Amino acid sequence: IIILGIETSCDETAVAVVKNGREILSNIVSSQMESHKRFGGVVPEIASRHHVEQITTILEEAMEEANVSFDELDGIAVTEGPGLVGALLIGVNAAKAVAFTQNKPLIGVHHIAGHIYANHIVEELTFPLLTLVVSGGHTELVYMEEHGVFHVIGETRDDAVGEAYDKVARTLGLPYPGGPHIDRLSQEGEPTIPLPRAWLEPNSFDFSFSGLKSAVINTLHNAKQRGEEIPVENIAASFQDSVIDVLVTKTLKAAEEKKVDRILLAGGVAANKGLREQLSTKCEEAGIKLTIPPMSLCTDNAAMIASAGTIFYELGYRSNDQLNGQPGLELPKIKP
Ligand code: ATP
Ligand code: MG
Ligand code: FE
Repeated sequence: IIILGIETSCDETAVAVVKNGREILSNIVSSQMESHKRFGGVVPEIASRHHVEQITTILEEAMEEANVSFDELDGIAVTEGPGLVGALLIGVNAAKAVAFTQNKPLIGVHHIAGHIYANHIVEELTFPLLTLVVSGGHTELVYMEEHGVFHVIGETRDDAVGEAYDKVARTLGLPYPGGPHIDRLSQEGEPTIPLPRAWLEPNSFDFSFSGLKSAVINTLHNAKQRGEEIPVENIAASFQDSVIDVLVTKTLKAAEEKKVDRILLAGGVAANKGLREQLSTKCEEAGIKLTIPPMSLCTDNAAMIASAGTIFYELGYRSNDQLNGQPGLELPKIKP
């Protein structure tokens, strides 16, 4: 089975061709990061414009590199949501154009299902499993007993992890996106500042990061008023310590409760060195197999969409000509 994947939910224009859900024939990503940097975040109108300008070229490039003809494709998978509506529409319409002119099935894919299935490319998924999704817009614990059926057992009640990183980084005067900078600084600092950990209710697998973010801002403000200077590395290390402590503890607790022996890490924040290390250590101690995709598959890409799309295709799932960009799409529980 050969599936074409298209992803345009945010600021990456991406097209990939994947064979049998796991073999990448091509995976082209065009990032617009530089265009958004000076605004300190993604500007929706600029994102849409870039996607329009890029999509045809990237599509041609992906097909050429994969060395397959449109006729050889078994289906077209595309991110239908969540994301920026104007950005999603470019990918959805490109996918429709290919699907209907070539008379191929169209498969709408949830962006987070894609992030989860990036792990399937690394190593075939086995069930039951638990995924910790940590990205710019999401922080979720997703439990799965079989392909295509997603149970969100915990999620953030306010900021996503990546968002919290970027906001704290901004306060510290670091460039956008700030996550990697805080991660780097943390390695050089010590977690000397006591910061809160939002455990929430004892049985909850939900997360909250806005209180932590405010605590960092208040700490900086108070120090400034007293004329003190806190080393930026120590702030970074203290913030990161709090974030990782909560993420790793809750993930391991959920794994125990759900009796899973496999954990996946997904999303852009999976690049975080501290998180990778702590999660690896704890999983090893607990005898849990951990999969972490390489960076190129953690950040937005279309190979993950094609991989998830292949599974959905095999499950018999098809979208019709009504497929639309859905900015607030919930993770689907797909059962054909
Ligand atoms: P979503 O998938 O929820 O729509 P997104 O695709 O925009 O969001 P990703 O591209 O998966 O998000 O991840 C981007 C986020 O990851 C940014 O917030 C960035 O700061 C963060 N990030 C990247 N590297 C690191 C790191 N080493 N440590 C912490 N955060 C990081
Ligand atoms: Mg992005
Ligand atoms: Fe993403």
